Amino acid sequence: MLKEILELTTQKGINLKEVYNVVRNESDLTKVEIAEKTNLKFSTCARLIEELVEIGLLYESGEAHSSGGRKAKKYAITSTTNYVVGIDISRTFSKVLLMTLDLNPIEEQRFEMNETSTPDVMIKFYINTIHTMLKKNGIEESSLLGIGISAIGPLDTKNGIIKKPLHFPASGWEDIPIVDRVKEYFDTEVVLDYGENSALSAEQRQGAAKSDSSIFHINKGVGIRLGIMLNGEILRPRGGDKGGAFGQGHMVVDIHGRKCTCGNYGCMNAYSTIPALVKEVKNHLKRGADSVIHDQVDNVSEVSFSHIVSAIEEKDQLCEQIVKDTAYYSGTGLANLITIFHPSKIILSGPMYRELKLFYDMSIETAMNRYKKLFPDLEVTFTQGELGENAAAIGAGGIVLDYLLSV
Ligand SMILES: [Zn+2]
Repeated sequence: MLKEILELTTQKGINLKEVYNVVRNESDLTKVEIAEKTNLKFSTCARLIEELVEIGLLYESGEAHSSGGRKAKKYAITSTTNYVVGIDISRTFSKVLLMTLDLNPIEEQRFEMNETSTPDVMIKFYINTIHTMLKKNGIEESSLLGIGISAIGPLDTKNGIIKKPLHFPASGWEDIPIVDRVKEYFDTEVVLDYGENSALSAEQRQGAAKSDSSIFHINKGVGIRLGIMLNGEILRPRGGDKGGAFGQGHMVVDIHGRKCTCGNYGCMNAYSTIPALVKEVKNHLKRGADSVIHDQVDNVSEVSFSHIVSAIEEKDQLCEQIVKDTAYYSGTGLANLITIFHPSKIILSGPMYRELKLFYDMSIETAMNRYKKLFPDLEVTFTQGELGENAAAIGAGGIVLDYLLSV
């Protein structure tokens, strides 16, 4: 039934979608509140709500507190009339989530990305996983409302193409028409967006930033991915669909600094990413610095991020100092962004922040020391988010619903 309503183009159809979307975005609203948020006349809005209840898309979720008289009923969406799938494609893993319409995961499948994870292999994995999940949960394919895909840029979101993301462990990730490839197997809407944006919108909808409207979401791992929401709107670079992603990794944090892969000097990427950190630790070890890592590897060339994580747990002085130095650059970059945009919440996600608490803490301390000198009253809260690794896939499911309800 939701599918039929989504296809309506009449004024009434548009109003029905608007009412449904308002209740989807904020559960447990009364008719008066829904009318206010949709700007519809109360009587019109009340009729539309009744209609949506009658066909099972909304239900009475409770009663509002009242000091007397009849209590007003509250409404919520019936979350199991249809389902959505969110796919997250990152450099280190892929995730497929089957979700109800309120974006609660029913089933999830994770796949570690390695040198065999070519586009063909992964697309086959996504398709098979979705089929299996639907079957296992007794869900008809026709109940699948859409598939949202979040990926690493650069993307052509309008045409659904993953253009040429760097540092994928497998080859072949270049100009992949991922939306069309998935549509070959499912007669449903498929939408593509940047993982940083979908993770941000999921944390804002149901995670760590529910009461915020000016938010950064930074994912730091092999690369740096930045999503920005200002006053409730996700910012996109000029050029729209083909504008690319924000290049926070190339924000200069030391004009006389290390050479970056882009050819400039002193970019954040050359300091506070996994490859930069590993390289720095290796350089020190090669020069003979003392560290517990020497006991873990036969050769310095074998050193990986996980060696550094466990060395930090053992309070290895060399790694602690290098991570602190790395965090100094990361915090400086954060302070630059805060100074410009004044966000209220910053979500620091990805393996660098998640697995290195020292790095997380020191980045925040540096950022605060710097921006507070300029804006002592500006309150910014830092968090690692509440949805963890699932944020981008949950958000991808949300983006497909946003899309369907906006057209
Ligand atoms: Zn650069």
